[in-house]
Amino acid sequence: MADDADVIVVGAGLAGLVAATEIADSGKRVIVVEQEGEQSLGGQAFWSFGGLFLVDSPEQRRLGIKDSFELALQDWMGTAGFDREEDVWPRRWAEAYVAFAAGEKRGWLRAMGHRIFPVVGWAERGGYDAMGHGNSVPRFHVTWGTGPGVVAPFERRARDAQASGNLTFKFRHRVDALTITGGAFDGITGSMLEPDDVERGKSSSRKVIGDFTLRAQAVIVAAGGIGGNHDLVRQNWPKRLGDAPKNMISGVPEHVDGRMIGITEAAGARLINRDRMWHYVEGIRNWSPIWPRHGIRILPGPSSMWFDATGKRLPSPLFPGSDTLGQLHYIMSTGYDYSWFVLTQSIIKKEFALSGSEQNPDLTGKSWLMTARRATNKGAPAPVEAFKSRGADFIVRDNLADLVTAMNALVGDNLLKLDDVKAQIEARDREIGNAFVKDTQVMNIHNARKYIGDRLIRTAKPHRILDPAHGPLIAVKLNILTRKTLGGFETDLDSRVFGRDGNIMPGLYAAGEAAGFGGGGMHGYRSLEGTFLGGCLFSGRNAGRAAAKAVG
Ligand SMILES: Cc1cc2nc3c(=O)[nH]c(=O)nc-3n(C[C@H](O)[C@H](O)[C@H](O)COP(=O)(O)OP(=O)(O)OC[C@H]3O[C@@H](n4cnc5c(N)ncnc54)[C@H](O)[C@@H]3O)c2cc1C
Repeated sequence: MADDADVIVVGAGLAGLVAATEIADSGKRVIVVEQEGEQSLGGQAFWSFGGLFLVDSPEQRRLGIKDSFELALQDWMGTAGFDREEDVWPRRWAEAYVAFAAGEKRGWLRAMGHRIFPVVGWAERGGYDAMGHGNSVPRFHVTWGTGPGVVAPFERRARDAQASGNLTFKFRHRVDALTITGGAFDGITGSMLEPDDVERGKSSSRKVIGDFTLRAQAVIVAAGGIGGNHDLVRQNWPKRLGDAPKNMISGVPEHVDGRMIGITEAAGARLINRDRMWHYVEGIRNWSPIWPRHGIRILPGPSSMWFDATGKRLPSPLFPGSDTLGQLHYIMSTGYDYSWFVLTQSIIKKEFALSGSEQNPDLTGKSWLMTARRATNKGAPAPVEAFKSRGADFIVRDNLADLVTAMNALVGDNLLKLDDVKAQIEARDREIGNAFVKDTQVMNIHNARKYIGDRLIRTAKPHRILDPAHGPLIAVKLNILTRKTLGGFETDLDSRVFGRDGNIMPGLYAAGEAAGFGGGGMHGYRSLEGTFLGGCLFSGRNAGRAAAKAVG
């Protein structure tokens, strides 16, 4: 039987698009198979904030940030905490990826028309020692155009390749199995789903109208992670983070269903680190949901006070933006699966950003004028103000007594005691008078404001939370929001998949979230942020180039 193409790519997300365009541009024929419709091209990356981890970039240097490969690798290793036998390939991927981020990543993207917003963000700041978790310096480079701006160069290359006949898309084709002949992967079988012109991101019909078989010399699995499938998230939930939360909201569309992970594993691939995942603790219910249980992550600046469900301030250094999984671990240890931010209008205005392309019309729409208003406007950006007035998790009041009453009413119990909350806020407020202080969160705010990017658009001037001049007071109920899968299929640096017997499985490759963004988990236990899109770029590129070479 003749092959339908040289290589088949499963998934038209970022990793799949990168792999496919590398193959097509090398002159080989590639088919991209995608269960969703054409309107979903780009997968999760379209919805993303477009933040990219880069090291020692011109943007950093312009802002006076001194970064280096050595500093970034130190941060990565302190964050990853690799400690398992199966971390051999993840560790090699981590080293190679940090070198990519410090080397050709920016130039490669730039040559394709990708551009970066000039103020570099500072995500996952840690708060431990130099060898512990976190970014020592700001490294979160937001794409000018956010997620769609990351997808665009690859969509353009894919469309060109489609026109020249090297690349074929097969939308509404859902892969159900991988085929193997003589020990080598040589194709896929699956179901054709009925056409559905549902809006991008909404759940599409799963009605099967036929089946298909496709053959090629190699198959690349780039089918994403498990974040949209809460059953799988709970099943793989690590005990070290406490019990799986009862209530979670979804930071990803329903097509991030993890189904292809099971199919690939059933074909003999070695899935490692499945208990490593990256979920956020600052999730808010979307008042205008696109996908089921749609939640948005707040990307917080450092000043909001953070209380657990019982009204106890989170311990140092678990401040907003410091250590996502440290916070998750702490919150789950309280016996409740939510927590609270308490802040002022001055803080929300300067410090709240929402992760997602549709929540940032200024950056997504590449409008300098709208973006400049972030610094000059009286209110927060319009999408944040919309959440403030319409979001189910937001409470706005003029005084603390009314705020606490409304917080208790929102969850339907009396866990929060006004006197308790008041005493903690007043104590923190007494630390505001001096620039040298005991309260480590206030210290952290002073430190953040030494970085010009934070002082300009991310960190409010220190003030008393209970100062009415900075009001009204705001409370936000924070939910746990599922997002990323850090484990995945074990791969070598060519993205070739290992079988359970420890040998490479001929003809099978994996990239993006399905491969734990490379190696089966290049992040280890935790991430420095902005590393997921980049992981798709790097592993997709390696997979595409290696598969194109291998098929001869
Ligand atoms: C709101 C949001 C904000 C984010 N912000 C950032 C950020 O700022 N920085 C960052 O680094 N990362 C960010 N991320 C994460 C990042 O976008 C994702 O991790 C990444 O895009 C995953 O890409 P992927 O190609 O591996 O998988 P996906 O995008 O999930 O694509 C996989 C594709 O495979 C298809 N598929 C699955 N199974 C099958 C099957 N059996 N048959 C056929 N097709 C199948 C799916 O339908 C899907 O289209 C964000 C994500 C979201 C949702």
